[in-house]
Amino acid sequence: MAVPKRKTSPSRRGMRRAHDALSVESFQECPNCGELKRPHNLCNACGHYNGREIVSVEA
Ligand SMILES: [Zn+2]
Repeated sequence: MAVPKRKTSPSRRGMRRAHDALSVESFQECPNCGELKRPHNLCNACGHYNGREIVSVEA
């Protein structure tokens, strides 16, 4: 079985983890209701996508 020859130093471990941070989720304003929504996703507030109603949302 392949086994690491040296213990990973705290510095090396930190360098590896430098790319692990989560990025902030992107958002856009819904053109129908102005609510913030995720791009390429149906609007949660009004159920519209690409200028038409996909699902009806009961208020
Ligand atoms: Zn909307």
